[in-house]
Amino acid sequence: MASQALAALRGVTKRYGAITAVTRIDLEIRGGELLSLLGVNGAGKTTALSLLTGQLKADEGSVELFGGDPTLPSQRKRLGVMLQEAELPEKLKVRELVHQQAQYFDAPLAVDETLAISGLTELATRRFDQLSGGQKRRVQFAIALVGNPKLLLIDEPTTGLDVGARRQFWQVIRELKARGVSIVLTTHYLEEADALADRIVVIGKGRVLADGTPAAIKARVQGRRVGARTTLPIESVRAFAHAGEVTLSEGRVTLRSPRVEDVLRQWLAADPHLSDLTVEALSLEDAFLSLTQGAAP
Ligand code: ATP
Repeated sequence: MASQALAALRGVTKRYGAITAVTRIDLEIRGGELLSLLGVNGAGKTTALSLLTGQLKADEGSVELFGGDPTLPSQRKRLGVMLQEAELPEKLKVRELVHQQAQYFDAPLAVDETLAISGLTELATRRFDQLSGGQKRRVQFAIALVGNPKLLLIDEPTTGLDVGARRQFWQVIRELKARGVSIVLTTHYLEEADALADRIVVIGKGRVLADGTPAAIKARVQGRRVGARTTLPIESVRAFAHAGEVTLSEGRVTLRSPRVEDVLRQWLAADPHLSDLTVEALSLEDAFLSLTQGAAP
């Protein structure tokens, strides 16, 4: 049955022998959105993507791509895929690889345009086996892009990229989104999901732990973090009302509290020598850690 979603997993379970990689997972990808899949190693992100690309078949539940079955090649015509490991003919040049891929599609992007978007213009005549790891990732991205996809699935695209290349990549992703391409991106960089995603789905042990905007996911962790150097023993800080979890690291005591003002009043009154005080908003990383605690495989 076709639906509004561009792609969807509905009640999907996938097992590898005795290992259940995803369990009754529901995931919808809507037109025009950038969805980021987050989860610790082994959470089931790559499995979820591979089900959407038709490379894996669900043991239970249904998988839908553009309203049909993703294992049919005709359904994958408007799909671009960049998985973590892709084998490419080592001896071919960058332009040849992208050109070769373009032949599989009815209305591909121009090869030169694809190379330019992917930051490969100057490397076009370089052999694939003579590229650095980060440059090879760009070629894999160009290959995912050249078919002019409506939906792009990308698995940890910026792993191994330097900081400048990562920022450049973010810009490319934003431009593609502005052109109307829908994107699903897995990442271990939470700031990447925060910077790019309209929606974040956190997966743990093959199940959806949270699904919402970056702001909504962050809002699941209440309060702020307070840190200071103190002459008080850590037990005294732990005894403050609303102190939350208190830790000591490199001479600084840190705590997370939904009522930092109350904690600070008590702390300043008890320790006239309190110094090096910081108060910070909680981040997506804090939300992620608290959501995935106990969900590691
Ligand atoms: P990572 O962040 O490390 O890439 P992931 O979230 O993408 O992890 P998956 O690769 O989907 O996780 O793996 C989910 C689970 O399935 C893990 O327990 C993994 O060990 C297992 N698994 C994945 N591929 C296979 C396979 N081919 N055979 C057996 N088990 C597998």
